[in-house]
Amino acid sequence: TLAVAGEEIWGLHAYNTLVDLDQMLDQAGESDRRRHYGETISILDGIPMSFKSNIAVRTEPLTAGSRILGHHHDINKASMIAPPVGYDADTVKILLRDKGGILMGTTSLDEFGMGSLGTNTAVGVDGKTTPTKNPLPLLSFLDEMLTNAIPKDASSAEEQLVATLQLPSDVILQCHQNALQLYEQSHMGGFAFSAGGSSSGSAASVAHGSSLLSLGTDTGGSVRLPAAWCGLVGLKPSYGLLSRHGIVSYASSFDTVGILARSVDCACIALDVLAQRGEYSRDSTFSSYGPNNTSSSQVAVAELSTSNNPLNGVKVGIPEAFSIRECPSDICENWSKAAQILEDHGAEIVQVSSESISPDLIQKALAAYYVLVSAEASSNLSRYDGFRYGVKANTTATTDLNKYYTPLEQQYASTRSEGFGKEVARRILCGTYVLSSDQFHTHYEAAATLRACLAEELHSTLKERVDLLLIPTVLSPPTRIDSSGTSMDSTVMFANDIMTTPPSLAGLPSVSVPMLSTVEDAQFPSSMQLIGGRLKEDVILKAAHVLL
Ligand code: GLN
Repeated sequence: TLAVAGEEIWGLHAYNTLVDLDQMLDQAGESDRRRHYGETISILDGIPMSFKSNIAVRTEPLTAGSRILGHHHDINKASMIAPPVGYDADTVKILLRDKGGILMGTTSLDEFGMGSLGTNTAVGVDGKTTPTKNPLPLLSFLDEMLTNAIPKDASSAEEQLVATLQLPSDVILQCHQNALQLYEQSHMGGFAFSAGGSSSGSAASVAHGSSLLSLGTDTGGSVRLPAAWCGLVGLKPSYGLLSRHGIVSYASSFDTVGILARSVDCACIALDVLAQRGEYSRDSTFSSYGPNNTSSSQVAVAELSTSNNPLNGVKVGIPEAFSIRECPSDICENWSKAAQILEDHGAEIVQVSSESISPDLIQKALAAYYVLVSAEASSNLSRYDGFRYGVKANTTATTDLNKYYTPLEQQYASTRSEGFGKEVARRILCGTYVLSSDQFHTHYEAAATLRACLAEELHSTLKERVDLLLIPTVLSPPTRIDSSGTSMDSTVMFANDIMTTPPSLAGLPSVSVPMLSTVEDAQFPSSMQLIGGRLKEDVILKAAHVLL
């Protein structure tokens, strides 16, 4: 009911496909039955979850938010009617088939994961682009409505939650409608803040409450940025820890499956389940889970409840190189508060000087990231030619250029120009440019060298000097977006990734955690990012648990 209300009444555009309600209820009934007979499969049994639409879910179409992977009668009339993909990604198989999770649907995204605002989406209602909207501004109104709707005898928070869960669907739908009306009458004006991207729908689905867990992908921040703007925990594990099997490739040496959840505990549970490879290892970069399995994140968080100073002996680095000039004062203030909270829980705060991590490398990291991911994307996306994958365009349209091309080339050209959105086309063009023989040394090689130097500095700092680094996730609150989806200048959009791309370049684990305690009167929470050494997810999650 919540999912439908979010999509239809609030127009969230969190989901690309929503599972049929009867099917969902059947699964929930099965899970209830198992619970009743003490046969619960796992702690995730019966938990509603969603998956970004670039992760293969057997029963749903796998579109990566692109027209080129849609199945259209006419590519220009973009209603998506792609068939189910027919197989599960390793991660989906674990959560849905082995652990008993309930599929709510697949979520919207920036096409192929390219974007930071959820606005580069080609898959929408009636062929219009439909950017995902940030649900946070409406949720407080919904809370008010739901509280009024539940019986007055529910007094404790727990009783209230149970009573809310038991509300009939027509009452929930009415509450949504009233919340929207209240919002529109309020002084806050239009409802069009970005949910972040590219895992925009995954974040909105969890923030809204219709999914409790969602998997996204994080190439350079696509799980952490939407988590930050929607007030969630967003975990990008070490590169290679979770299987990439069944993920639509964007930039293969960066792509990571990430977890969006409301609490650190929930993210830990999902990570532990997903990181145990079991029989699934259909990804050649798949690492084993650290030197020994006992360093699992769940164990680390369990220790927290038994210890007064859970971060005793943990050195937290504040890297000078990230004190970027543009960092606004309220974010800097939160940064100091977060350091103070960690210190109060036993951590030792260490300033990491520019000799250990060079500001010059951090400043150039964003540019290097975009050169490298565009290069990889141009290669990965060459497979969508209208023959092997994707939709074949109608080539009857004749242009003057046609006389220079063979019919086969015309077919490629029209399929690709009709199938790819503007941002994706831009990345492919940039990628082929930086890989061309005369630009290779000045662009691609320079970026690859910078990546190696930065990775070396981050790895050695995290090995020799500190256990984790603390920095903000993003330097600005959610961008206002045009509800028609008109996107802004790409380079302005790129600036949102300035803090999230360095750990991605180095393949390091990183978690974004909202600082809820510091934002009582703010409309959006501000989030901090914790970066750990390779396969040291347990350390960053322990610190994240303290912050949230
Ligand atoms: N905004 C970044 C990009 O467009 C990050 C995307 C991602 O992590 N998938 O490349």
